[in-house]
Amino acid sequence: MEPRRQTPGPRSVRRALPVVDTDALHDECGVVGISGVDYAAEQAYLALYALQHRGQEAAGIVTFDEAGPHTLKGEGLVGDVFKTWSLPKLTGRTAVGHVRYSTAGGSDLDNIQPITARYAHGHIALAHNGNLTNHYDLRRRLVEEGAIFRSSSDSEAVVHLIAKSRHDTVDAQIDDALTHLEGAYSLVIAIDDVVYAARDPRGFRPLVLGRKDGGHVVVSETCALDIMGAEYVRDLEPGEVIRMENGRVTPLRSLPPADRAAPCIFELVYFARPDSRIWGISVDRARRAFGRKLAQEHPVDADAVIAVPDSANSAALGYAEESGIPFELGMLRHHYVGRTFIQPSQDSRDFGARMKYNPVREVLEGKRVVVVDDSLVRGTTSTSLVRMLRGAGAREVHLRIGSPPVRFPCFYGIDMPTKRELIASSLSVDEIEERLGVDSLGYLSLEGMVEAVAEAGPYCTACFSGDYPAPLVDVEKGHLTPEGPGRC
Ligand code: SF4
Repeated sequence: MEPRRQTPGPRSVRRALPVVDTDALHDECGVVGISGVDYAAEQAYLALYALQHRGQEAAGIVTFDEAGPHTLKGEGLVGDVFKTWSLPKLTGRTAVGHVRYSTAGGSDLDNIQPITARYAHGHIALAHNGNLTNHYDLRRRLVEEGAIFRSSSDSEAVVHLIAKSRHDTVDAQIDDALTHLEGAYSLVIAIDDVVYAARDPRGFRPLVLGRKDGGHVVVSETCALDIMGAEYVRDLEPGEVIRMENGRVTPLRSLPPADRAAPCIFELVYFARPDSRIWGISVDRARRAFGRKLAQEHPVDADAVIAVPDSANSAALGYAEESGIPFELGMLRHHYVGRTFIQPSQDSRDFGARMKYNPVREVLEGKRVVVVDDSLVRGTTSTSLVRMLRGAGAREVHLRIGSPPVRFPCFYGIDMPTKRELIASSLSVDEIEERLGVDSLGYLSLEGMVEAVAEAGPYCTACFSGDYPAPLVDVEKGHLTPEGPGRC
């Protein structure tokens, strides 16, 4: 593979991924911020537990009290990093937390968030969901001005920008730092016991405000509010910055508006949990609407509709409702595959898919099945799944995808393969159909997808359409190729 042009450094030294993840997309983070709530660490833990789907590689919580910051970070799932004996050490009523998918930046502990530092005005703890599209440009400028980076994460640039701001107040320093950022960010930043929360002017990533026991919280998704027993207040607006101190919320400012808002439509397709509300609409309802549209656009005679669990369950239900074909549980997903399983030395070609899914022979035998998946990225897992379904007796396999072909990389915080690795960037639908070995293949159209959830648009659809709403500064300046950040 031809090497991609990137700033040399730890970012290019990425860890090998677990085999079961070879065809999955990953969001890079979930965040939580808490102000004025007793046992803030426990509440942050609950929030991160609910946000685990947004990042399974590392987790961290920083709390603040009069003794200063208390930090606990580590690799692994939330339940692995925080223990009943370690959590009570994180004292205080202020907390910032983060779950991370660590392909960007490697495995070293310095890349695990919240990023912590001490500067002239206090201790900083910063948690970031998204990806800055001028990261390499900012980093180069900051290094030239004398900054020393500890991590390879784009988020650390924000810490440096705050620390070097010449403004007198912390509010103004935060404000100043944000004006230098381009791309996608939902940020939670604690400076001692004051928590700031900000969304970029296009609002790529979600950030939700809630109320809890006289204090306030911000979280990536509403499912985290539910587990905390917090009340939903509202979504932060694109470009909005708020300050939370002793549980009180003060609007700080709104960043200059972008030409248009561009929340990520892939949050609705795949990333967010179906029990969350994103962009003001139910994720489950959005996926059902995608499934119904898909059934209208690509009908087929079949005996059963099955989902690639779990992310396609809602879309498959929508397809079944619209088509009148019964929904069946034709495939089960193993939920307990961690990154530490032992790969047998006698590997088979479908090993990765078999570690994750198992077909139900009794449902499939002799049937014509419609298989609904949320998206098709590399196509490797789908090829294995089709073989597994046929092996379990399915007579016909008709694949239906609840989103359009993914043809372009994401530069806004979703860990996606590079353009050349995306199956739809080089193959036509007919060619993909042949490659996957299905009887028919149908994608939801771009117009159909946007129309199905029009009430919360307009959206970013760049990975489907190639229409990038925020400037790709690092690409324009030659720090990254248009192939995308991808994986090394
Ligand atoms: S490019 Fe795709 S995944 Fe990335 S923000 Fe836009 S819609 Fe979301």
